[in-house]
Amino acid sequence: MDDSRLNVGLACTAALAGAAVMNHAAAVDLRVDGDSGRVVGARIQDKLTVFILCLSTDAGKAFDVYAEVVVNATGPFCDAVRKMANSDAPNMISPNTLAGTTDSAASVNSLPEPTKEEIDFILQAIGDYLNIQVRHSDILSSWSGLRPLALDPSAKNTESISRDHIVHIDCPGLITISGGKWTTYLSMAEDAVDAAIKHGNLKPSNACVTSHLPILGAYKWEPSSFTTLAQSCVRMKRTRNGKVIPGTMDASVAKHLSSSYGSMAEQVALIAQDENLGKRLAHGYPYLEAEVAYCVRNEYCESAIDFIARRTRLAFLDVNAAAQALPRIIQVLATERGWNGERLERERMDAEGFLQTFKTVKMLPS
Ligand SMILES: Cc1cc2nc3c(=O)[nH]c(=O)nc-3n(C[C@H](O)[C@H](O)[C@H](O)COP(=O)(O)OP(=O)(O)OC[C@H]3O[C@@H](n4cnc5c(N)ncnc54)[C@H](O)[C@@H]3O)c2cc1C
Repeated sequence: MDDSRLNVGLACTAALAGAAVMNHAAAVDLRVDGDSGRVVGARIQDKLTVFILCLSTDAGKAFDVYAEVVVNATGPFCDAVRKMANSDAPNMISPNTLAGTTDSAASVNSLPEPTKEEIDFILQAIGDYLNIQVRHSDILSSWSGLRPLALDPSAKNTESISRDHIVHIDCPGLITISGGKWTTYLSMAEDAVDAAIKHGNLKPSNACVTSHLPILGAYKWEPSSFTTLAQSCVRMKRTRNGKVIPGTMDASVAKHLSSSYGSMAEQVALIAQDENLGKRLAHGYPYLEAEVAYCVRNEYCESAIDFIARRTRLAFLDVNAAAQALPRIIQVLATERGWNGERLERERMDAEGFLQTFKTVKMLPS
């Protein structure tokens, strides 16, 4: 499964269904009604304007949003949000990393990195199955993530950490959903929305449609759709000396576009053809320049990190390939967003710093 594509597909499907979707935005406080003590909204900080404006001293835009019920679905970060309403709320998350079959306790951090011990442990385990020794230098990319193992604060047995999800109400107006797994996201979403409907006494016009709602790109898509792409489109590529030459939409690229974007792959292919953005971004991988433009225009892609880790998963597959692709990704982003000067330099530094965390052997900044 491609986590990055499924995740962005869900956000875009929600937007299409009428949700107001915002990325690079954090809930920094909750809004509580002084009389009733009910949570009625949240203060949101736009992290993108912070990022752009940090060249000056502007702190970025913050604004309030209001709702009948606020759902806190912030995974391993959910305790921090719960404590915005009640600083005495007991923790419900035991953040945890997993290497092979071994769980280790971890601290909550937005960019956790694997330890040398965890990497050695996995290499040693691989060694039991292969005849060759796998070295650190053979690793294409290494990363770590926090699994939110949840403890139900209202359970009598406080020792029972759940591998399933928990829906918990700390105070009126605030519902927290945490724990669970990617594979159970549909039932997590349904349980959270059902709890919000009940708690807020909401009157929806229909029952939950999530289980049979097609994700954006599913409409008219078939496993064989890539053949139509390969037969009907060319990839127009600009060479280093500026000449535009045609290239075939080979099966590996067509399959990649079709499996990543579903029926929207045709839009990506047309950008590759009509706007001379048909070159591969990294040797050996099917990612195209056109995808950067498509993701900026249609998928809220705001930075090079968004592209290499949250619209595609190139950084997770091969950190050197992602580094090789970076200059061109930033160039296409800059054209789309009208960036120049300091903004470009900042983007490069941020993305390179991010990629450093995927290297097994850390390099000193040059
Ligand atoms: C390395 C790893 C491997 C895994 N493998 C599998 C697997 O194979 N199969 C499987 O089913 N599950 C797997 N999981 C578990 C699965 O990824 C998680 O259970 C799932 O992502 C939890 O979803 P969530 O939406 O609750 O939280 P998250 O996916 O963590 O999403 C929470 C979001 O909230 C955002 N956020 C945090 N604070 C704030 C704030 N103040 N304001 C606004 N937004 C905020 C975060 O940026 C994040 O985007 C794995 C997890 C890890 C770490």
